[in-house]
Amino acid sequence: MSVVTRFAPSPTGALHIGGARTALFNWLYARGHGGTFLLRIEDTDRARSTDENRQAILDGLTWLGLDWDGEPTSQAANADRHAAVAHELLAKGAAYKCFSTQDEIEAFREKAREEKTSTLFRSPWRDVAAADHPDAPYVIRIKAPRDGQTTLHDEVQSDVTFANNQLDDMILLRSDGTPVYMLAVVVDDHDMGVTHVIRGDDHLANAFRQNMIYEAMGWPKPVLAHIPLIFGPDGKKLSKRHGATGAAEYQALGYPAAGMRNYLARLGWSHGDDEFFTDAQAKEWFDLNGIGKSPARFDFKKLENICGQHIAVADDAALLQEMQGYLAATGAEPFTEAQKDGMLKAMYCLKERAKTFPELIEKAHFVLTSRPIAPDEKAAAHLTDVFRGILGELTPQLQNASWSRDILEGVVASTAEAHDMKLGKLAGPLRAALAGRAVSPSVFDMMLVLGQDETIARLQDASR
Ligand code: GLU
Repeated sequence: MSVVTRFAPSPTGALHIGGARTALFNWLYARGHGGTFLLRIEDTDRARSTDENRQAILDGLTWLGLDWDGEPTSQAANADRHAAVAHELLAKGAAYKCFSTQDEIEAFREKAREEKTSTLFRSPWRDVAAADHPDAPYVIRIKAPRDGQTTLHDEVQSDVTFANNQLDDMILLRSDGTPVYMLAVVVDDHDMGVTHVIRGDDHLANAFRQNMIYEAMGWPKPVLAHIPLIFGPDGKKLSKRHGATGAAEYQALGYPAAGMRNYLARLGWSHGDDEFFTDAQAKEWFDLNGIGKSPARFDFKKLENICGQHIAVADDAALLQEMQGYLAATGAEPFTEAQKDGMLKAMYCLKERAKTFPELIEKAHFVLTSRPIAPDEKAAAHLTDVFRGILGELTPQLQNASWSRDILEGVVASTAEAHDMKLGKLAGPLRAALAGRAVSPSVFDMMLVLGQDETIARLQDASR
């Protein structure tokens, strides 16, 4: 049987980092098993679901590279099918019409509170024959088992047992004929052929309610895997207090998607001691057994480290393409063609040790800017009269030099020596002249990337 997973976000907010991880796990599992990964937008809460949020979720998944199969489906659009299943359950005798009014239900609960018995509503209509039904509004309720217990096997939580007297005859269809969410999820999962439900463990209790519908319909049940929540570094539920919580925020902070995927995969799942891995490895390795039972802690340092490693090994052109997306996400201008050329030439020395795109762009300043270079305050401090004089002396020598690293190092070293200084002393002024910044790739890398004419022109500008 081929694997079918799904991500089923409610568009009542943008894509949260927890949702992104749930989507990732489903995607990895499907892709690793040659299966199908579906996207279902659970938009039954019409008041809180917005198109804007739906779009933000799709954008977040697209940024993360989590491609889904087919078109995303809308749960609300299937309401008729959900209602039809409620009627099928009614016809089978697995559900019943309940005519209790809100006031009657409240009175039942009030009495239960006084008598200190269970407040779970026990409808008097459960066993009333159709012939005795009034002509009045009704809801359709499922006939929940009243005694015994239900044990569900979960791939993460193992066997979980629930006492059946904790299950109420939940409503399937409201009096206005609209289906409830719990029914919609089961019908959709069944109709979409979902074989594995991988989702947050905040849905574990729902699994028991949903199980009643599977049982009553006689439908095959999907494998369940309820994954623990994500905590912040302090062990409390991840929230704004800890830092960014929305997937889009991570894009705007300049984390590469491959690094995010790698880090999010490690958040609650492990494969031995492997921290850094490729998508291909993750797809091959990902399994439900590797998901931990306790909440994972979000570690921003580790995220940065992993992102840095992904930047270091990324394909240059692909990285540049992704950076254009990052610029767009922050509202910045895209790179011009000239800047792209410069970036591609420089990429080999920019990628080392850059953990995020802003860090990489900061290092790339020397190819992104053009003459005359305006040094920032720190860089300007290096351009004293003495050093401007030395930069001026360097230019004729560089004019005659052949443009290789060894030769350039030789020229700069002998100039430093002539002034009785260590080569390192010249690094600051050279950086200031070439990049206008105190932080940049090595001066020799910059010279090699910029080429002879541009290097000499920048040094001449600074020596004036
Ligand atoms: N729509 C639910 C949520 O966003 C997910 C339900 C499910 O995965 O079964 O939390």
